[in-house]
Amino acid sequence: MRNSIKSVDDFERILGVDFPEKKKKIFERTLRKFPMSVTPYYLSLIDVDDFENDPVFMQSFPSIEELKIGRYDMTDPLHEDKDSPVPGVTHRYPDRVLFHVSNTCAMYCRHCTRKRKVGDNDCIPTREVIEQGIEYIRNTPQVRDVLLSGGDPFLLSDDRLDWILTEVGKIDHVEVVRIGTRTPVVLPYRITEDLVEMLKKHHPLWINTHFNHPRELTASSRRALMRLADAGIPLGNQSVLLAGVNDCQRLIKTLNQKLVKNRVRPYYLYQCDMSEGLSHFRTPIGKGIEILESLRGHTSGFSVPTYVVDAPGGGGKIPVMPNYIVSWGPNKVVLRNFEGVITTYNEPKTYDSKYCDRECSKCNLQLKEDDAEENAVGIEKLLSDWDDTTSLTPRGNERVGRRDDAA
Ligand SMILES: *Cc1c(COP(=O)(O)O)cnc(C)c1O
Repeated sequence: MRNSIKSVDDFERILGVDFPEKKKKIFERTLRKFPMSVTPYYLSLIDVDDFENDPVFMQSFPSIEELKIGRYDMTDPLHEDKDSPVPGVTHRYPDRVLFHVSNTCAMYCRHCTRKRKVGDNDCIPTREVIEQGIEYIRNTPQVRDVLLSGGDPFLLSDDRLDWILTEVGKIDHVEVVRIGTRTPVVLPYRITEDLVEMLKKHHPLWINTHFNHPRELTASSRRALMRLADAGIPLGNQSVLLAGVNDCQRLIKTLNQKLVKNRVRPYYLYQCDMSEGLSHFRTPIGKGIEILESLRGHTSGFSVPTYVVDAPGGGGKIPVMPNYIVSWGPNKVVLRNFEGVITTYNEPKTYDSKYCDRECSKCNLQLKEDDAEENAVGIEKLLSDWDDTTSLTPRGNERVGRRDDAA
């Protein structure tokens, strides 16, 4: 970390390349807005002979395009700061929270969705801020899943992380903890025996990492993954679809197959967010759907991630995929498979659709939950028997406004 490359001069010197003076000026201007920091390890993966098209270079070295702010670009497109009940916690979904326990990363990804915060060393969360976050989780019984993120939680010391995991682990209603980290990709030596020994004490613990290109699966990163998997930690991967880096069906398939070989389950493929300075990385959503078309059916089901668009404005992740239902009648559903075979599924002649009043103790399905009471949310509410809502209307609907005026 101490030897991380932070200036264009050092980058040129170490890579043995020369940028034209004029370009260099723009790079430096970009770095004043969005700083750079690359580990020597990650930089060493760059193929110097074709560095400008290199996926590692593109993810770590600034582009002059970053200063072009598009009309729809936002500093906080996912409204993570707005959906934050206490500093460092984003509570968006009913049963889980995102807990920012570190505000720094081993490598500053150029495509970071939290670009607004990159290099903002002033706001490394203090022990007090983390205690407040833990307090919020303790006082919010709906939270059964805590996702430690940041920044990168593995940039904390083993002791600090051990303390957080211990405190969160003491909360009865927290059933599972997850950590999101890119260290296996950009600083694999962080996955030490000591770290893994400590993590093992905190099961059930899941880890998601962030590989974007097969090139990143080196001997060192594979060793890091092996240590984590051997510690019994289920591993997932979240990739970001990036123009010029990995926007290719064949590449994504190779990446996911290699991940599975290393015991990492592809979890999400993200559509690139509408954060400031990322326009040059964005692809149409159609590119992602095309990629999914070439994965589902063509390779093992567990090598296929869910492709998601994280809704601008804080709507959360929306899964997107090709359509497989071709048509639908009362008795038959017409479906197509990955080969283009069109088939029919005959709906059952009889199906006893039971009225559900959420009285699980009186139901024959034998779910023994003492506490099955939950609120229906969103579309689930429209489908349910136990809630009388028949429509959802956006706030500010003009027609409803006229009705209210008349009343
Ligand atoms: C992605 C995300 C989660 C976790 O979502 P999963 O679909 O459960 O992986 C939780 N909170 C926030 C704010 C997120 O962005």
